[in-house]
Amino acid sequence: MAGSVATIPALTNEEILRYSRHLIMPEVGMEGQLKLKAAKVLCIGAGGLGSPLALYLAAAGVGTLGMVDFDVVDFTNLQRQIIHSTADVGRPKLQSAAEKIGAMNPEVELRTFETRLTSQNALELFRDFDIVVDGTDNFATRYLVNDACVLTGKPNVYGSIFRFEGQVSVFATENGPCYRCVYPEPPPPGLVPSCAEGGVLGVLPGLVGVMQATEAIKLILGAGEPLIGRLLLVDALAMKFRELKLRKDPDCPVCGQHRIITKLIDYEQFCGIRGEEKPVENKLPEISVEELKRRRDAGEDLFVLDVREPHEYQICNLGGYLIPLNDLPKRVHELDSSREIVAHCKMGGRSAKAVEFLRQAGFTKVKNLTGGITAWSERVDPKVPKY
Ligand SMILES: [Zn+2]
Repeated sequence: MAGSVATIPALTNEEILRYSRHLIMPEVGMEGQLKLKAAKVLCIGAGGLGSPLALYLAAAGVGTLGMVDFDVVDFTNLQRQIIHSTADVGRPKLQSAAEKIGAMNPEVELRTFETRLTSQNALELFRDFDIVVDGTDNFATRYLVNDACVLTGKPNVYGSIFRFEGQVSVFATENGPCYRCVYPEPPPPGLVPSCAEGGVLGVLPGLVGVMQATEAIKLILGAGEPLIGRLLLVDALAMKFRELKLRKDPDCPVCGQHRIITKLIDYEQFCGIRGEEKPVENKLPEISVEELKRRRDAGEDLFVLDVREPHEYQICNLGGYLIPLNDLPKRVHELDSSREIVAHCKMGGRSAKAVEFLRQAGFTKVKNLTGGITAWSERVDPKVPKY
């Protein structure tokens, strides 16, 4: 898989010293270390999963490491994205990652692609690598990575995280199942919250990312039992690991016997989304944070309904009446339909659902606060903390 070892020059004395704890293990040895040196691994994302992944693959001596990311380091990343430092906030993630990797192991050839992975560039990018490791955080990119791996014949070392739970598997090998065999359809948009909405335990991407790195290294070495046809489920709160057996679906549209997907498609359309936390219905009545501020200051009668969770309300609030979105159906009688109601959440996604629900329940004077309390913090009152 990792090319012909014979064409790779022997390790220098410095490399022999650096990798000595590998070299003295028969399962790796000189042959394995040369396979690692010849290997080309592409990491999608330099975030929570990409941080530990890239660091450990580089430390282990993977010769060529590719990284795809278009984002800049945000303050809220630092709780888990350990490749980035406080001083890196605002810098491109790839610049920050390249510095850390270069400082740790200058032997690694790092190829950075500061771009969003798309249906237009994925196949060309994947062709130059042996293994793709998926560190993405959204369904559209996850299906894109999977399909591009199947179409280019590259193993897809998959990982995903949410709150305290993670998943790891190896998809798209020659005889193993792919992500679509297991998840033929994406969840309805908005049903599965993102980490930005639902949160994630800071160490969880470390746990899952390191397992992905382990699987990538095993694939390169051809050693052990890879997670092909097995989905490892991690519950960090209970600290329990479960394993599900997965089968290749003969009717899978991308890797099955009658393939329908023979080239990359529009994955945002497939997943029913256009950007994260977009209101589910564009025609919902909305109000901007500036207008809300103006009308409140003018003393107008507006009822602010906060549909976030109580622990979010504790972080910051606009003095609104708190009914978490999931409680709304059973607590709707607490609201006065004759008053004008402005619903808000963190960014506008959940409150859009609340507005839709209330309109169906007969409320006619209800509006969604565009951009939520985050927009309020950014554009009206910076004293309200962003989270
Ligand atoms: Zn499949």
